[in-house]
Amino acid sequence: MSTAQIASIDSLAEGLSGYLARRQINQVRRAYYYAEQAHDGQLRRSGDPYVTHPLQVAGILGRMHMDHQSLMAAMLHDVIEDTGITKTAIKSQFGVNVAEMVDGVSKLSKISFDSHAEAQAENFQKMALAMSRDLRVIMVKLADRLHNMRTIKALPREKRQRKARETLDIYAPIANRLGMNDMRIELEDLAFEAMYPLRFQRIDAAVRKVRGNRKEIVSQIQTSLEACLEREGLPGRTLGREKHLYSIYDKMRSKRKSFAEITDVYAFRIVVDRVDTCYRVLGAVHSLYKPVPGRFKDYIAIPKTNGYQSLHTTLFGMHGLPIEIQIRTEQMEAMANNGIAAHWLYKSSESIPSNAHVRAREWVNGLLEMQQRAGNSLEFIENVKIDLFPDEIYVFTPKGEIFELPRGSTPVDFAYAIHTDIGSSCVACRISRRLAPLSEPLESGQTVEIITAPGHKPNPAWLGFVVTAKARASIRQFLKNQKLSESTALGRRLLSKALASFGANLDALPQEAVVATLKQLRLDSMDRLFEEIGLGNRMSHAVARRLLASDENPAETGLADSLMVAGTESSVMNYARCCTPIPGDRIVGHISSERGLVIHVDGCNNIAEFRNNPDKCVEVNWDPEVQGEFHVEVRVELAQQRGIIATLATSITGAEANIEKISTVERDAHLSIVILLMKVRNRVHLARVMRKIRLIKAVTRVTRAKSRKIRRSVGRAGIVTH
Ligand code: MN
Repeated sequence: MSTAQIASIDSLAEGLSGYLARRQINQVRRAYYYAEQAHDGQLRRSGDPYVTHPLQVAGILGRMHMDHQSLMAAMLHDVIEDTGITKTAIKSQFGVNVAEMVDGVSKLSKISFDSHAEAQAENFQKMALAMSRDLRVIMVKLADRLHNMRTIKALPREKRQRKARETLDIYAPIANRLGMNDMRIELEDLAFEAMYPLRFQRIDAAVRKVRGNRKEIVSQIQTSLEACLEREGLPGRTLGREKHLYSIYDKMRSKRKSFAEITDVYAFRIVVDRVDTCYRVLGAVHSLYKPVPGRFKDYIAIPKTNGYQSLHTTLFGMHGLPIEIQIRTEQMEAMANNGIAAHWLYKSSESIPSNAHVRAREWVNGLLEMQQRAGNSLEFIENVKIDLFPDEIYVFTPKGEIFELPRGSTPVDFAYAIHTDIGSSCVACRISRRLAPLSEPLESGQTVEIITAPGHKPNPAWLGFVVTAKARASIRQFLKNQKLSESTALGRRLLSKALASFGANLDALPQEAVVATLKQLRLDSMDRLFEEIGLGNRMSHAVARRLLASDENPAETGLADSLMVAGTESSVMNYARCCTPIPGDRIVGHISSERGLVIHVDGCNNIAEFRNNPDKCVEVNWDPEVQGEFHVEVRVELAQQRGIIATLATSITGAEANIEKISTVERDAHLSIVILLMKVRNRVHLARVMRKIRLIKAVTRVTRAKSRKIRRSVGRAGIVTH
């Protein structure tokens, strides 16, 4: 990659004229002048005006033939972070695509990778990619980092080390994932030099020395390779190769090899026109020198995960010197050096791109196709997909630990991912320090803090938004256990009451009667019996009779206290939706085998047939202390009038009732019937609400709706309560 400085916007524009339209170049210019003004007065560490930095970043991208929007984003990439200008302002000046890219780069820059463990580096790489659905964001960020590394000498030592470490851990591997080898090599060597200046110098000196010593042999081998291609009539160019300094250092360290072992290899590359020429060249060099068995690799048929394609072979040269040869086409060469960026380089000669993002996708599709042609490597396809269009998000705990979650995950999923207990007891959360609903979908890069309250229980409503299997299973399990304990409690109350109606007491039952009954019913404990009754699978009255069987035909005394209803619904106690009982109504409990105890208004048509069956219905009363709000339906007949629904709503809210739903069930030119579903505290409250409604002039009649079944044939009016 050329490291030449761009002298001015004019010289950049001149370079761009090779592949961009004049109109596009003018937009790049406009972005430059905008950035120049925004950064006015700011200086780089080096003392240069700040705008030199975005200019060089755009220059790096220009050499890769990136599209004009990427170059504009490069010009503006530090404007949001370093000046007072907003994303909205950039959008109005340069359009939504450029604004999104600038915003994306700013977000990436804001995350500080360095404060976290090295072991998490791979997650950071994935996160960076996940955050950049438009891959051009990554390209701008890489170019930004490259220029900062080129000018890193201006920074104080400590900052230099930090940036260098981050470059080696995060950015060079990202460049590698995207197949941008030139970018990776330059980033690695710059970072290596900044991290370990002495080791860098030592290896650099050693390489120079070896290069001098080997010069003659290298040119001998090169000449013989070229002559061989010439003889066989195979057009191509032969290049000598050297490993870059960081890779030598890395191999010495990780593979514990000596400098000589690593560099004692002569390496060449032969670049040709077409794929079939590659294989013919392979044959030719194998007849020139003897190949080393087991060292041939065909990355043309099976490309590497980042799209790299080439033939690799090792030969025994004269005097047994090992010679490594890579053989590939010009296109593969461009791909190997520039990876995803090669895509822009290649297509640029054709029609001007309309949508570079679509092209990035094409690049990925191209890789997939190549892979399919080559045969099978599921891993390859998976990698490309995960890396570039991930279905995962990456979020932090307040301590900086990273969690990987599926896209769409919420704070509740996150809480369960940390620990089941945290999930079960979570009550609220902060997303990047801001209080947020537990249902808000998370995004990559956010820091999530879960607030728990001891003893707090999972909410069934969470099942409506959680996406992870773990959260779902944990919530379900909890609800199941809860239903069990609630039904046990309810069953005990129902049985006590049934026994009381025979003048007996649950705690004073003869032991033999209990044992005999459990045996008959094939249950192993009283708790199981209570549970069966609570779930509605057994009738409390029948069980009571069985328990008292020794006292022949016990007479009902009718002295039992009724059950008290205290307010909140549970998994085994519900309010009937047909008649919507509210405190103050006379009520009756219906034992339903699906829903447990269902509270109806006494007189509801839906339970009329079992009203007097003690196995199906139990006496219940409102607890005098009953709390909460209860659903109720009110039917209003009114004259058609503009804005009447709003007037209605205002007067109801004025009476402190909450409207849940308004539906018009019947209307002609003059008259409407409106059904209101609302929440009130009790009958007194409802009466007050209805009085208020009646005060509205257009209203001709207000009644409480009686039952859902009956409502289908409206006209038969509901009961009038007042
Ligand atoms: Mn920058």
